[in-house]
Amino acid sequence: MSSNKFIVPPPRIVNREVVKPLLCGPGPCDYWPSVAEALSKPVLTPICDEFFSVLDEIRAGLQYVFQTRSKLVLAMSGSGHSGMEAVISNLVGRGETLLIASRGIWDQRANIIANRYGIKVETISIPMNVTFSAEQLEPELKRLRPTAMFITHGDSSTGTLQNLQGLGDLCHNSLRFSFRRYGALLLVDTVVTLGAVPFFMDEWGVDGVYTSTQKAFSGPAGITPVAFSARAEEKIKTRKHDPPFYFDIKLLASQWNCYGSTRTYHHTMSPPLFWALRCCLQEIAKETLPASWARHEATTARFHKRLREYSFEFLVPKPEDRLATVTTVVLPKGYDYMEFVKTMRARHNILIFAGLGPTVGKALRIGLMGVNSTIQVADAVAEAMADTLRALKKSSL
Ligand code: PMP
Repeated sequence: MSSNKFIVPPPRIVNREVVKPLLCGPGPCDYWPSVAEALSKPVLTPICDEFFSVLDEIRAGLQYVFQTRSKLVLAMSGSGHSGMEAVISNLVGRGETLLIASRGIWDQRANIIANRYGIKVETISIPMNVTFSAEQLEPELKRLRPTAMFITHGDSSTGTLQNLQGLGDLCHNSLRFSFRRYGALLLVDTVVTLGAVPFFMDEWGVDGVYTSTQKAFSGPAGITPVAFSARAEEKIKTRKHDPPFYFDIKLLASQWNCYGSTRTYHHTMSPPLFWALRCCLQEIAKETLPASWARHEATTARFHKRLREYSFEFLVPKPEDRLATVTTVVLPKGYDYMEFVKTMRARHNILIFAGLGPTVGKALRIGLMGVNSTIQVADAVAEAMADTLRALKKSSL
């Protein structure tokens, strides 16, 4: 073949040394050592018995972490946004109403996604550093009679944790609002909470939920667990709309053999990511959820105590609204958030983040989750933050 056909020469791609920081932002988090190993397990075709048993084990692990007996539990090939898009597009059709309880960037993302599907979006908003009460949501559910309500459990942009107890009943309860048979579906983002903070899908009446693997699971991004309740399954069976082919839960349920008789091909899954997710679930099952929740609570209590000792201020005023995995801190006047983040990396090789969405220029975001949820890491990060504040103060004098 004549060489003049090649208008682009081969690039020089050099090997680069990466100095890995301690990942203490709102995600991604560091891996479990076992996950790093799992990523190099043999590549299997996603259509063979060995791989099918990996899928079965993942589904059993997901039923445990979501605390659901639902059969419609699987993982999307994609990052957390693919879960958001799958839950919304499978359960709410064009022209139907989605009520979004909005207090951070992820609710805004849900809004953008729903709009692209021609869904009628209604929002109820509160300040970014507080959470919703049932009394605030109830009149909107009554007024709008939406097909579904979307809410974020832990908001990594603001550091708030939404109490979900009672919201399932509020959305479904047909007698109370004389709703049509199934009332509104409850859709929840647990990207930064699952595995670290108590969550009971069935008991709390959650209908569509997604999480992530790169946060409290301490695994790689790119594979996103989702789960659907019996009410959601009914909606999927009877819906009049078609979600995008790649996100269609009916087709994916068939590939994942959710109902016990199918192993169809939908798309080529990524075996390394499946090995990794299986390993994350193994780690959580070994530790158990109550122990993992207690570890995250104790780590955060220690971290917050240390921050108070160093006179740092929290963005979220009420301790009960604060998220165990991501803490938001307000710096004294005159400090630059980006400079603080850069100095933490330069002096301590610890990666924390500045604000995102509503918290840009207003807060630091520090994540202690998964393998990094330990007293040692909490102390190291608090001390590094105190040192950074002193260093910046000195240099600005
Ligand atoms: N929801 C929340 C609460 C998140 O923290 C994130 C990611 N930071 C997402 C959704 C989106 O996930 P991803 O970046 O994996 O697509």
